[in-house]
Amino acid sequence: MKDSLWDEFQEAVQNGLVRHRSVLDVTSKFQEASVRISRALAKSVTTCGCVRINAQKNQIPNSDKMSLSELRASLDDHLEGELCTACREVLEEEFGRLLFYLAALADLLDVNVYDILIKERKKLSTLGLYNLL
Ligand SMILES: [Zn+2]
Repeated sequence: MKDSLWDEFQEAVQNGLVRHRSVLDVTSKFQEASVRISRALAKSVTTCGCVRINAQKNQIPNSDKMSLSELRASLDDHLEGELCTACREVLEEEFGRLLFYLAALADLLDVNVYDILIKERKKLSTLGLYNLL
């Protein structure tokens, strides 16, 4: 299936990926992009301080009597605060880098990411709550 926005992006990535076209370069850059997202989040916590991580074990309630939104609201994401503009910009740049290398890797392997999005969305709607736990 074709999606114009994703296909345009994947084609632009394909055209822009000249120097580091080896699958080894692309897979290692993809992994690096993922790590850079974690690093940017860590710096938001430890350097900027706009967000905090306060983690402990989530107590899973008896979900039989709860709606999905009630269950979601009862579970803690362990994140407090909001990203400041500077941290948000850094994270958005890193997410963009990750998307670039995802598109590049998918292109090298002749995989259409838009098709994967459709399959994953279908899985989420089919499995519903059981997929979330
Ligand atoms: Zn910040």
